Amino acid sequence: MKPTTQANTHLEDPRSKFPKPPFEGQSQGWPGLAGKMNPKPDHGEKSYKGSGRLIGRKALITGGDSGMGRAAAIAYAREGADVAINYYPTEEPDAKEVIALIAAEGRKAIAIPGDLREEAFCKSLVNEALQALGGLDIIVNNAGRQQASDSILDISAEEFDATMKTNIYAPFWILKAALPHLQRGSAIIATTSEQAYDPSPDLYDYAQTKAATMSYVKSLAKQLGSKGIRVNGVAPGPIWTPLQVSGGASQEKLKKFGEKTPLGRPGQPAELASIYVQLAANDGSFATGQIYGAAGGSGQP
Ligand code: NAD
Ligand code: MG
Repeated sequence: MKPTTQANTHLEDPRSKFPKPPFEGQSQGWPGLAGKMNPKPDHGEKSYKGSGRLIGRKALITGGDSGMGRAAAIAYAREGADVAINYYPTEEPDAKEVIALIAAEGRKAIAIPGDLREEAFCKSLVNEALQALGGLDIIVNNAGRQQASDSILDISAEEFDATMKTNIYAPFWILKAALPHLQRGSAIIATTSEQAYDPSPDLYDYAQTKAATMSYVKSLAKQLGSKGIRVNGVAPGPIWTPLQVSGGASQEKLKKFGEKTPLGRPGQPAELASIYVQLAANDGSFATGQIYGAAGGSGQP
């Protein structure tokens, strides 16, 4: 479906705009599929309208098959960018939908499945994206692993390592491979979390990776400012995505997901799409080293 350029003419109540708890209990094996969730998340498939903010840009988005990454991929394509998405191979059904949506905008849509926990793959991911798109100027390090555990005693060294590899090492490897190719005006965007500031007791390993992400955004922004490359982060609160139904949240949490926010519901990925656009676009040029919160009234910053 082609988006229209019509302006929104009516006020929308943010409380009733999207589904609110109670939700049905549901669980999927990691990493889960958006297509199997109930209700299905809204990534802006029908609602996002572009206005030429990223014409000709070349973006690589990790975790681009679902959740925030998919919302960013759809929005970027509708703003005029060519987009490469990475995802875990078992997420092909979700990824196919995103590729079709990008292609429907007449933009290049490149699918690069693979496991981000491997350094060699992260390097080849960047090289493949560079070749297929003819360059890169937006890197969105968005993929993440979140597995809830009531006790630190239940987290094996292997699981701890998988969380660190996915959330901390993969962005490091990807950025090292991409940086020599980034021109002035390029943008790096990381997905961190409200967990960086207010960690939950059952997210011991995940929360510290999000604090690390918040920190690398601020460090790298200082390092790359003189090169004309901006680095920013997005800190979501509770958002309705596969990560939460594939081990990220307990069934008890899931049924009441988002209930504690002032809006009384979780966010949908579509509600964050314009933030990823803003942080990449030329008109966001004074934003670097910033973390944009999107937590529905709770959370920091
Ligand atoms: P999601 O499940 O849609 O996206 C996470 C993606 O990470 C998956 O689609 C998968 O493609 C990718 N991934 C994970 N491990 C991988 C691996 N080893 N190899 C390749 N890809 C891998 O869920 P989401 O909530 O949209 O997550 C996107 C980001 O948002 C994550 O960094 C997450 O930590 C962050 N976040 C989510 C919430 C929330 O409530 N959903 C809140 C704050 C932050
Ligand atoms: Mg996914």
